[in-house]
Amino acid sequence: MTALKNKDRDRREKISIFDANIFLTGIDFNIFDEIIFTTPGIINEIKIKKTHRNILNKIQVAIETKKLRVRIPERKYIQEIERKSMITGDFNALSREDKDLLALALELREESDQNIRMYTNDYSIENVCSKLNIPFSPIFKEGIKKMIIWEIYCPFCKQIYNTDDLSKNCERCGSPLKRRPNRNKH
Ligand SMILES: [Zn+2]
Repeated sequence: MTALKNKDRDRREKISIFDANIFLTGIDFNIFDEIIFTTPGIINEIKIKKTHRNILNKIQVAIETKKLRVRIPERKYIQEIERKSMITGDFNALSREDKDLLALALELREESDQNIRMYTNDYSIENVCSKLNIPFSPIFKEGIKKMIIWEIYCPFCKQIYNTDDLSKNCERCGSPLKRRPNRNKH
């Protein structure tokens, strides 16, 4: 007997902002439902570090499929971040790229009513986020596996099943069930 999963997911579009250290974990972007934003400076930072070819390829594909958007923030947001980080004492700890990334977060928050979240493992970025009420989360390499919730589904009729039904066939149409990663809620 298969209990069907009744998913009541939040359908609003959300925005994630990625720091370089998040890309460098090699994370699979498909875990995220939302559109991912970053700055050209962050992408350059990744290129300069002799990153695994695989990570750069993933970034390239994500840009092409518009899952990942690379954008320069407006000057006024950069200035706001400079002012705020002076107050928090993080100004000197933040690189040019860090400040641009924070400015992009401010810009994205202001231009839309969408939820944004900064993903970074950088303490100073987290600190400024917290002062600006920008939600943030770290993602460590060893934490990635735990983030993935596998969703078992029928590739033909799209019915969702329980995770322990993977080896079974669809009750409706008999197709072998498949699995796909499903983003964890933070
Ligand atoms: Zn089916």
